[in-house]
Amino acid sequence: MPPPDDCLRVAVPVPLREALDYLPPRAEGLPVLQPGMRVQVRVGRRQLVGLVFEAGVCSELPRQRLRPVENVLDTEPLLDAATLELIRFTADYYHYPVGEVAAAALPERLRNGGEARVAAIERWRVCEGASPERVEIGRAPRQRALLAFMQELEARGEDLDAETLPPFGDGWRPLLRNLLDKNLVERREQEGLAPAPGGEFRPELHGEQEAAVEAMWPPGDCPGYAPHLLEGVTGSGKTEVYMRLIERALAVGRQTLVLVPEIGLTPQLLARLRRRFAVPIAALHSGLAEAPRRDAWLAARSGEAAILVGTRSAVFTPLPRLGLIVVDEEHDASFKQQDGLRYHARDLAVWRARRQGVPVVLGSATPSLETLRHALAGRYTHHRLVARAGGARPPRLRIMDIRHGRLDAGLSAQLLSAVRERLERGEQVLLFLNRRGFSPVLICHECGWVAHCPRCDAHMTFHAASNRLRCHHCGHEEPAPPACPACGSLEPKPVGQGTERVEQTLAAQFPDVGLLRIDRDTTRRRGALDASLEAAHSGRFPLLLGTQMLTKGHHLPNVTLVGVIDADQGLFSADYRAHERLAQLLVQVAGRAGREERPGEVIIQTHQPDHPLLHTLLAGGYRAAAQALLGERELTAMPPYTWLAVLRAEAAQKEAPLKFLAAVREVLEALCEGSVDVLGPVPAPMERRAGRYRAQLLLRAHERAALHKLLARALPRLEALPEARRSRWSLDVDPVDLY
Ligand code: ADP
Ligand code: ZN
Ligand code: ZN
Repeated sequence: MPPPDDCLRVAVPVPLREALDYLPPRAEGLPVLQPGMRVQVRVGRRQLVGLVFEAGVCSELPRQRLRPVENVLDTEPLLDAATLELIRFTADYYHYPVGEVAAAALPERLRNGGEARVAAIERWRVCEGASPERVEIGRAPRQRALLAFMQELEARGEDLDAETLPPFGDGWRPLLRNLLDKNLVERREQEGLAPAPGGEFRPELHGEQEAAVEAMWPPGDCPGYAPHLLEGVTGSGKTEVYMRLIERALAVGRQTLVLVPEIGLTPQLLARLRRRFAVPIAALHSGLAEAPRRDAWLAARSGEAAILVGTRSAVFTPLPRLGLIVVDEEHDASFKQQDGLRYHARDLAVWRARRQGVPVVLGSATPSLETLRHALAGRYTHHRLVARAGGARPPRLRIMDIRHGRLDAGLSAQLLSAVRERLERGEQVLLFLNRRGFSPVLICHECGWVAHCPRCDAHMTFHAASNRLRCHHCGHEEPAPPACPACGSLEPKPVGQGTERVEQTLAAQFPDVGLLRIDRDTTRRRGALDASLEAAHSGRFPLLLGTQMLTKGHHLPNVTLVGVIDADQGLFSADYRAHERLAQLLVQVAGRAGREERPGEVIIQTHQPDHPLLHTLLAGGYRAAAQALLGERELTAMPPYTWLAVLRAEAAQKEAPLKFLAAVREVLEALCEGSVDVLGPVPAPMERRAGRYRAQLLLRAHERAALHKLLARALPRLEALPEARRSRWSLDVDPVDLY
């Protein structure tokens, strides 16, 4: 008698590589199980939500050892075949437990077994005739302000809901209740997504845009899989190209997935899409609360949402009518998850596009070296937007040698006078600093004592506003000592500069000028970044000071001078991608300047005015710098010419991670037959972090397949190593940095 083939293969969120086999449920009257449905199963003593991957299989295990499925949570598959395949591929490629990949692919509410049903979304509307001048709120300035804020959102075509109102600031709910009580605002409840207003004026495409659109999606049906690189500086009209492609996808009833790097960019792009397209548009990003997140996901899955805009994890969303994938700012490192399942959303997007037979567009002013290499080799079609839309000239870059002059909080006299000149002309200035906090270190001028983190191999950062020391690596915090703990001198002083220190100096230099600082510290609250960017656009702040956050594609049309306070860190970092990142960063910040017919200038302060990277960048722009960097990568056998994986291990005992990795090395060398270089183990660049010691082992292969074959064979053995129990360890495939 053949063994019965009625078993189910269920992916459960536990650290086991493969899905587990179960018997069909015992209870009567449950829906017939199909792949993609959620079930409740027992693993050990725990009851977990799992995802059926295969139904009707015959198990290799004896039947008496299998448990039945305890409950069935869906009446139809929650995930379609394409999504299950993507999950499978992700688990294989990143060598990660399939059940944990499946869990990462679902929004929290559904992962926990919640019902796959959309809640009624609470929305509001400003009543006819309501205005901030109304007597009812004459003496309530905050209510007046909220009403004005709501009117502004409505004018921009945005919904008023629990997602769009928080940027107003804390306490918006009680204020809203007041406005509801006074009948100035009313509720409108509705299931599902409201279609956006759409209908915005659509400019005539310029020649390069037109050529790109026609090549990527000729009028008519979905053209099938083709990867495209759309290269163009900010303002060159990339978004307009995306929108025309979306239009063509919409015309044939197809959905578009748009991936964006940071939550900060989502609102801008969403607002633009909503003004243009009168269709339901869903958004998925980390700033959303759980319920709206589930609802957006369900709207995408049901096909109701015609466009889905999302950050990294949105790549896993089922889209039954998918016709187009766009990855904006494809070079951005935030597409790579840096812990747990370390996947790269851009790479998965390209895989998904090929699998589902749809075009994929990677857009950037500064394409990653990986993507650029594909384009140069002809594997991706390369489209360039060189002429700036609207006619603004590209910004001029200038290197400013700061070796000999005096610096005030890192600002040279020449830079300050350039700033003054712009401010006097009524123009906006952006100063960029890639560090937060008042100063990197507190140092004693008498004995040289430096404030160290007790748990990491790192200095602590001094935060002047709170007079505290904070470790940016583990979060440890303590008050700044009034006297030096080593010699008792009263002279511990901050050296170096962070945004807070620069802010103080600028405030002293330009006392009457509105100054806005945007960094992680000022934008911690949900919605705070949006509010800050809104303020940056408003013109109330001629002087902007910010970190990385300000460089990501935000349009600041009035900025005519960008000052890069310190380019040196990027020139001397140990990481092999540091130069690529610095080149991208400089070009991206430069992209903020000189929009709308006003010439922009970028001043780069450095102690290394002769550095070849800066010179190549100045003379030939990003393309020349990228080509030089590709040459270096080829010479040094680094990606994209080779394939890397890093094994990282950490433990409370200093020797444990190195011992484990040495054992790993032996296993790998016995298996790899010379097809993969095994480099290390070495202590991590910061060996001790949060009280734990860290080490790493680097694998490098000239063929991707050789690396994956080795990993697949080696991992079960590594898990069985006795040393594996004394370290926490993880594998990072295609690491974006080697720390
Ligand atoms: P990017 O995405 O490359 O930064 P955008 O598509 O946002 O560029 O274009 C920058 C600005 O130029 C936007 O305000 C956009 O509306 C406008 N724009 C884009 N293409 C055209 C065009 N063909 N004609 C007129 N304006 C355009
Ligand atoms: Zn001292
Ligand atoms: Zn620390």
